[in-house]
Amino acid sequence: MTHPPSLADIAAQLEAYDPQALPASEVLNFLDHLVTPVHESESVDIFAALGRVTAQDVISPLNVPPHDNSAMDGFAFDGAQLRDTQSLSLKVVGTALAGKAWAGAVKAGECVKIMTGAIMPEGLNTVVPQELCQITASETIEIPAGLLRSGDNRRLCGEDIMQGHAALLKGALITPAAAGLLASLGVPNVLVVRRLRVAYFSTGDEILSLGEAPREGAVYDSNRYTVHGMLQALGCEMIDMGVVKDIPELLEQAFNKAAEQADAIITSGGVSVGEADFTKAMMKQLGDVVFWKIAMRPGRPMAVGRIQKGQRSAVLFGLPGNPVAVMVTFLAFVKPALLKMMGCTAAPLPMLRARTQEVLRKKPGRTEYQRGIISRNAQGELQVITTGNQGSGVLSSMVQANGLIVLSHQQGTAQLGDWVDVLVI
Ligand code: AMP
Ligand code: MG
Repeated sequence: MTHPPSLADIAAQLEAYDPQALPASEVLNFLDHLVTPVHESESVDIFAALGRVTAQDVISPLNVPPHDNSAMDGFAFDGAQLRDTQSLSLKVVGTALAGKAWAGAVKAGECVKIMTGAIMPEGLNTVVPQELCQITASETIEIPAGLLRSGDNRRLCGEDIMQGHAALLKGALITPAAAGLLASLGVPNVLVVRRLRVAYFSTGDEILSLGEAPREGAVYDSNRYTVHGMLQALGCEMIDMGVVKDIPELLEQAFNKAAEQADAIITSGGVSVGEADFTKAMMKQLGDVVFWKIAMRPGRPMAVGRIQKGQRSAVLFGLPGNPVAVMVTFLAFVKPALLKMMGCTAAPLPMLRARTQEVLRKKPGRTEYQRGIISRNAQGELQVITTGNQGSGVLSSMVQANGLIVLSHQQGTAQLGDWVDVLVI
């Protein structure tokens, strides 16, 4: 195996690399160079495969559907007999049920009563839905002229998936639809990428764990809970390491234990410039780590790199401490990086455009993520309004939001009614 590039190698490749004012786009570029997909895979049953990522193409062992069959309840016949200007009269000679085919021969002027899903009898290619024809005599139907074309209401063998073709490509996320598709192939198990192991802890002497008594100057740890929720949504295996006090031995233990077990480590707090604590020093000591000031709001400080423990190394995401900054930096940067590590190649949901319902003051030169409520206006267009106090510590602004308004690096103030990018969350 070749050695992964050092952080200095990666930085040297980037055009706009300035660790003191790093554009959000360069953060994404850097992380894309830093992380690589995990290679191990495992076979799991379809239920357990939900939310996982396929480790290889899934080749269909059969055609879905396995035969030409009827899409409607009606009468099957040979569509070559249809005429534009003349109705067609057919004699009913038998019945085809789903699961019980009609095996007899059908001549010109004849048809077979057929149920949805039943195999099309030999030589027949068209179905008239029963509500579209008149049942004239006891055994005869009349199809009005101009209503149907040859081939209508018939599902073709293999039209969903062809035998030997890839039903799912490597890197596909197994959604409920994909799970159903796998089941339709008769495939009970699927090879998926092993779960990503992510260790996370909060740092800071002022951070209280739940259950501890409140004291002056201290705040309860919320970051572990938001990070836990976002990791769970990604289907990661989580290693919760609690709150780690600002004591070198404890920090060292925590980083070592995390690097021994995890593919990625997520910390919060202790990475801003003015920090008088040991977190940054310990990150530096135990790995190859850079400290950035990102040109963004909220979020600015972030540490990124690899923490080594023996032969193993884990990717480090040292997030800022402020609760909203943690969520925004996770969604903007950590999530795409983790998805790449999970081997997921599914395209992310695109950003949408919405009209801002208020003036959004902004200076060019940084990316801003404001918490917003997206809705539709009377014209049916998307519109967005911010959720009150946008302070980077104000988690309630995030709770009310159903999206983030993303104001790009270059853009300035958005005026009332301007179109802005929104990311549904
Ligand atoms: P820091 O990045 O360590 O300077 O922290 C910035 C702010 O975020 C401070 O007000 C911290 O008290 C707060 N903070 C840091 N970690 C957490 C946490 N785990 N939960 C809630 N607030 C936090
Ligand atoms: Mg701190």
